[in-house]
Amino acid sequence: MRLSFSELRERALEGRPPLELHVTFSPSERVYARPEVRNVTPARFDGSAWWEDGAIYLAGTLSFAARLVCVRCLSEFERSFRVSVDETFRRGAPPASAEDLPVRELVEWVEEDAFDLLPHLEDWLILSLPDRPLCREDCKGLCPVCGKNLNEGPCGCKVEAVDPRLEALRALLVPEEPDGHPS
Ligand SMILES: [Zn+2]
Ligand SMILES: [Zn+2]
Repeated sequence: MRLSFSELRERALEGRPPLELHVTFSPSERVYARPEVRNVTPARFDGSAWWEDGAIYLAGTLSFAARLVCVRCLSEFERSFRVSVDETFRRGAPPASAEDLPVRELVEWVEEDAFDLLPHLEDWLILSLPDRPLCREDCKGLCPVCGKNLNEGPCGCKVEAVDPRLEALRALLVPEEPDGHPS
């Protein structure tokens, strides 16, 4: 799926409406750069693109589902995403200083008249994946003693309630792993 500055400009100058876009794409290996991301379904983008004053504007919604690993309990879970996409493309090289921009906007600079839309949509997909996926907001995580998933119920281990002041004292008394503590 390619967008072209000259084509969209012509379209705008002829007074035609924005170009409607309905695109489905399979994410590339790039989305699996992080181990918490296990599987991403084909993504769908519904939106439009139009030319105005030398720039291409893209707006719409990106929908997909991902299988993620919870950082607390390490279980896999599925989540659906609907992401609002709003992006501006300008031709050429980015200006040396942000003050040279005509308006304060997030701009993607592209060299060619026509460029592939999919890598940009995929950037939106990657950015919308959570940094620290949680299967649910109040995930109880794993028992530090027996490793049981505490979302499935208590395990019966005796985990001492830790007084934060005592914990600070313990950190001073018990040397941690030697690396990271240069003497
Ligand atoms: Zn969890
Ligand atoms: Zn336990």
